[in-house]
Amino acid sequence: MSKNVEEAPTEEEKVEKPEKVEKPEKRKKKEKPVFSLYKVEGGKAVRLRPTCERCGPGYFMADHGDRYTCGHCGFTRYKPAEK
Ligand SMILES: [Zn+2]
Repeated sequence: MSKNVEEAPTEEEKVEKPEKVEKPEKRKKKEKPVFSLYKVEGGKAVRLRPTCERCGPGYFMADHGDRYTCGHCGFTRYKPAEK
């Protein structure tokens, strides 16, 4: 019975070196998808971030750990202490 023997690497494996390393395209500024601001719960969109009191709804505040900051007007609101 002849056995299918896989070709064994006889010579040293040729390492193909690309002559030119293509530069990666310009990195685009990462933008948070707007969907991350909402969470759908039971068919209802729940806002995960508070909106700015000064700028009104539509202006979300950034999460800074213990506080929220509005990037629009700079308004900072501290998170309510939990527990
Ligand atoms: Zn604001």
